Amino acid sequence: MTEARIIDGNANAAELRDTVAGLVRELRDFHHMVPGLAVVLVGDDPASQVYVRSKNKRATEVGMRSFEHFLPADTTEHQLLTLIEGLNDDPAVHGILIQLPLPRHIDQQKVIEAVDPEKDVDGFHPMNVGRLATGGRALVPCTPEGCLMMLKDQLVTLDGLDAVVVGRSNIVGKPMAQLLLRENCTVTIAHSRTTDLAGVCRRADILVAAVGRPEFIRGEWIKPGAIVMDVGINRVTGPDGKKRLVGDVNFAEAMEIAGAVTPVPGGVGPMTIAVLLRNTMVACCRQSRVKLARCEWI
Ligand code: NDP
Repeated sequence: MTEARIIDGNANAAELRDTVAGLVRELRDFHHMVPGLAVVLVGDDPASQVYVRSKNKRATEVGMRSFEHFLPADTTEHQLLTLIEGLNDDPAVHGILIQLPLPRHIDQQKVIEAVDPEKDVDGFHPMNVGRLATGGRALVPCTPEGCLMMLKDQLVTLDGLDAVVVGRSNIVGKPMAQLLLRENCTVTIAHSRTTDLAGVCRRADILVAAVGRPEFIRGEWIKPGAIVMDVGINRVTGPDGKKRLVGDVNFAEAMEIAGAVTPVPGGVGPMTIAVLLRNTMVACCRQSRVKLARCEWI
């Protein structure tokens, strides 16, 4: 048995960032516009701060403007909503990302719904969720969109393939299923109440794991030759006492049976930020009614 291909998320992400950087140059040089991304973080969680800074760094690298809003943990819901109102009205800001989760005293859904749907580069606003479900022109959540791009890079067509998505969150599982449906896959969404999960997974030509449980999907659950997209990011302590990241799939077992697998780290993760930049560029073009000849996304 030959080993599975490793799907290189870093290479896919670098290629997408290059494409976005080229389009941003075109916007600047021919349309005198610079896409702007505002990222809002409430609280002082160090991991979230690193994540937000890396989003802003990547935005700057591709030639965008980036606006960081670090707010204290005791920020009131009213203060946050007032900031969002200002960003909605700011013509220099084309994309708004609110880093989740928010502190408990803030109603997360209310905040998501306060973002202008045209600037909702995370694709979480009900308007974008509805547009994705009904085949409209949505801004689509970054992680599932990144997964889909990598899948299209691996397969000539997704038409008619059996796809199983394990996980039904609004952020990953449900939009992933919608995207696969749009590509004419036959889609099953599995979750914690699914009976015979192993049997359901074994039917999948495309298996997407978004569970949040380390190495949960075993090799014997995978159909020979399947493409396995591992969205999970879990921090575990190895036998040597060192912390490391693992996915939701047992990578070593998957490599023995699958056709292709995304590693963790270096798989789906890097694509998420690259798609965020793509979404910001798309949002900028749509808000300014600019069409770029070489760009199929707008
Ligand atoms: P959630 O916790 O919101 O959702 C997890 C899903 O997994 C739920 O639908 C849950 O089912 C399901 N689940 C939990 N236990 C089982 C089980 N035993 N059997 C079957 N299904 C189960 O997580 P997210 O969707 O937000 O994230 C999933 C993973 O992806 C996490 O590891 C997260 O860190 C990672 N992630 C990675 C990103 C990236 O950039 N690569 C971005 C976003 C997330 P139920 O609904 O029934 O409870």
